[in-house]
Amino acid sequence: MGNLTQKIIGYDLWHLELPVTSRRDHGIGSVEGVCEVVVLRLKSEDGSEGFGEASPWSVFTGTPEATYAALDRYLRPLVVGARVGDRSAIMARAAYAVAHCTEAKAALETALLDLAGRISEVPVWSLLGGRCREAIPLSCSIANPDFAQDIDLLARLQADGVRIVKLKTGFKDHAFDIMRLEYLAQNHPEISVRVDYNQGLSVEEAPAQVRDVAQFAPDFIEQPVRAHQFSMMSRLRRMIDVPLLADESVFGPEDMERAAREGICDGVSVKIMKSGGLARGQTVARIAAAHGLTAYGGDMFEAGLAHLAGTHMIAATPEITLGCEFYQASYFLKEDILENPFQVSDGQVVVPDGPGLGNRPDVNKLEHYAVAKAVAA
Ligand SMILES: [Mg+2]
Repeated sequence: MGNLTQKIIGYDLWHLELPVTSRRDHGIGSVEGVCEVVVLRLKSEDGSEGFGEASPWSVFTGTPEATYAALDRYLRPLVVGARVGDRSAIMARAAYAVAHCTEAKAALETALLDLAGRISEVPVWSLLGGRCREAIPLSCSIANPDFAQDIDLLARLQADGVRIVKLKTGFKDHAFDIMRLEYLAQNHPEISVRVDYNQGLSVEEAPAQVRDVAQFAPDFIEQPVRAHQFSMMSRLRRMIDVPLLADESVFGPEDMERAAREGICDGVSVKIMKSGGLARGQTVARIAAAHGLTAYGGDMFEAGLAHLAGTHMIAATPEITLGCEFYQASYFLKEDILENPFQVSDGQVVVPDGPGLGNRPDVNKLEHYAVAKAVAA
């Protein structure tokens, strides 16, 4: 066991713009050209390093600029000079050092876990309670406004053994959504289909459209209306036989408690970028399970480093039973930032065994894609 009482002496940041292969449309907005992430590197006195990624999306969680400022200005003083092993104390202070900025807190906790894991020579999942699974079924999103491109993607997914897709709906029109559901039912009956509106429907149109989509019996229908519209979520839930999932309505454990109390959902999308870290993500899943609700491992527009953090969290959280959607590193980014490819095998994300996150970013790629950085010489 390495020395966890040593101090953190290095704290470096990169704000990256990562080119993407296609356009993605969602009910709340689109991503085209690049996605933006912020990478944090911690160093300890013995020269060990730990990395974490923040993956903000301005219409969903927050902006890359706010994330970068939170890490650079407001969280840095809590970390530099602190002991590596004092992760819970650091995260407790971080919770109130800057409001919101959940992606920045997720990056910080990831880097602290990676650093402690590398020093102790154990995987991050072992620091989160131990492993309950070695592979996680992968869901890939169908979200291209040009459906012909997604038909090509479906062929690639089928060849790769991916058996779950999430159809992003509510960004164009209802007929487009129904046409794609019919296509999937007729041409890919082997694929398990989930539907996600990303808040795309108004309260006026939601009841009729959600009822139509439920006729296709998807695994679940996710977040048809705005995050704060809890009463409409619970009304829609009662109206259909298909499970209704909450995503944007539930960020952290506090939201999960309220969502369960008000009966707005049958399950929840757990994302470390929403919950503000891996431990809080585990708490969201456990509250859901205590109320008899399901959970799956969602993500934002992430690179492989954030996928790894989510993978370790799900690997240590038996309550997250519906798989994950860590597809961007393999199917969306032109180039990922990891040294070794993010591991997906036969449609399942492989849980790494090595110390820390079990993989790390290539610093040359961080330098190449950086639009801002704060790196010690
Ligand atoms: Mg969602």
